Amino acid sequence: MTLKPDRQYTPANVGWRFDNSYARLPDYFYAQLCPVPVRAPQAVLLNHALAESLGLDLHALSTEEAAALFAGNALPDGAQPIAQAYAGHQFGHFAMLGDGRAILLGEHLTPDGRRVDIQLKGSGQTPFSRRGDGRAALAPMLREYIISEAMHALGIPSTRSLAVVTTGEQVRRETMLPGAVLTRIAASHIRVGTFEYAAGHGGKDAVKILADYTLQRHYPELQASENPYFALLNRVIERQAALVAQWLMTGFIHGVMNTDNTSISGETIDYGPCAFMDAYNPDTVFSSIDQNGRYRYRHQPVMMQWNLARFAETLLPLFDPSQEQAVAMAEESLHAFPRIYQTHWIGGMRKKLGLFTEEEGDSELIAGLLTWMDQHRTDYTNTFRALTEPALPQDAMFRESSFMEWHSRWQQRLARQPQPASESLQLMQANNPVIIPRNHHVEEALTAASEQGDYTVLQRLLAALAQPYEDDPEYFDYRTPPAPSERVYQTFCGT
Ligand code: AMP
Ligand code: MG
Repeated sequence: MTLKPDRQYTPANVGWRFDNSYARLPDYFYAQLCPVPVRAPQAVLLNHALAESLGLDLHALSTEEAAALFAGNALPDGAQPIAQAYAGHQFGHFAMLGDGRAILLGEHLTPDGRRVDIQLKGSGQTPFSRRGDGRAALAPMLREYIISEAMHALGIPSTRSLAVVTTGEQVRRETMLPGAVLTRIAASHIRVGTFEYAAGHGGKDAVKILADYTLQRHYPELQASENPYFALLNRVIERQAALVAQWLMTGFIHGVMNTDNTSISGETIDYGPCAFMDAYNPDTVFSSIDQNGRYRYRHQPVMMQWNLARFAETLLPLFDPSQEQAVAMAEESLHAFPRIYQTHWIGGMRKKLGLFTEEEGDSELIAGLLTWMDQHRTDYTNTFRALTEPALPQDAMFRESSFMEWHSRWQQRLARQPQPASESLQLMQANNPVIIPRNHHVEEALTAASEQGDYTVLQRLLAALAQPYEDDPEYFDYRTPPAPSERVYQTFCGT
């Protein structure tokens, strides 16, 4: 494909190494087009640490060059911009979707041998925009930057955020808002919804092309399996079970777990109305568009299983020539999901409680704590962290008999394992974060940035979130749960 000369761009040595394998797939998988230029781009966030880990040197760019690059006004050498086609089940209903406000610039090869997607989000209309303007407002893009970087620092697989630029243009939502473009880095943007699109558009042949591509890109070790497509399903089930277990263990609620927002690579993707819960309540739902609580905190595992069933359906013709046999295979794998999920969850919860060994009563021990937390609506993050302190906090609830009983059961359990208390403590400190992106702190940072142009609040929050397991007195204020007046009840996806 040829690009207009005014868009080709060869900056100082940033270190781009593009190899655009997705653009070599059959053309029904995407539309080729450039981002729509914006009026007056200004870079407000540049993630130099992430850039470095990708082998990119953003310092090689002038302020203007960086702004033009991450707005899509200029293109990096070797980019081959496309909007990807996909479908998806949104809140249970099937729809044809696609990148309606995003452009994949291409795949960059990192010095350590990874292949990552470089995607601009908010980059203008595409053939998949339907009735949308193709743009994004500043606050939601800053939100994705904050939460995705926090997830990464917590050790949860996630897409990353490389940059946010403001566009100098307004976007119309309920009110007029400043526009922005986010640069997203992902292992890939292949979604369950991409498979649904392939199945619907081109049937078995298209699914096979996409599955072969996915195996090659993400799971090359499975290509030699007896049945690579079935191995692919099982691997994705495994990855997603592990991922959702991590979400629940940190109190994360994705908010829009549609199949188009479920990545085949196992990364958390698409940060819209997502949020971390403060007070423990398994029925927590923040998203303003999730009226029935479909994606509430405790539903996430079962919703992931539902999404994986949609994935499995697309692969059926590749499993076995006999449909009956193919369905039986898929069902067996999908039925294993709860057990696989549970194994990851219990394993992680043991670490949160400092347990190295396994005992039969562990599930009950964990459930005992959660029931007490549920009854008292204790702060999820701070309760687990309190257990890592040498002395329990002064709060009256920790003196209650129901808690004291649980606590002594836990202490006895700890005493039955060979590891010394100091090792347990270390394990707990490494698995119970001190700082999570609490809604009221995120909102405070977004308001200062998007309404006053003050990025110092946001930068400080980012610095704290980059070391979530550190007990740093500098960031003590970020541990505080919201006062009743600060509580955020609803989050919005900002589309
Ligand atoms: P999301 O809820 O962000 O996962 O988006 C769902 C679908 O809507 C995707 O196909 C997006 O590309 C599309 N979309 C969201 N916002 C816009 C917008 N402002 N303009 C065009 N398409 C959009
Ligand atoms: Mg999406």
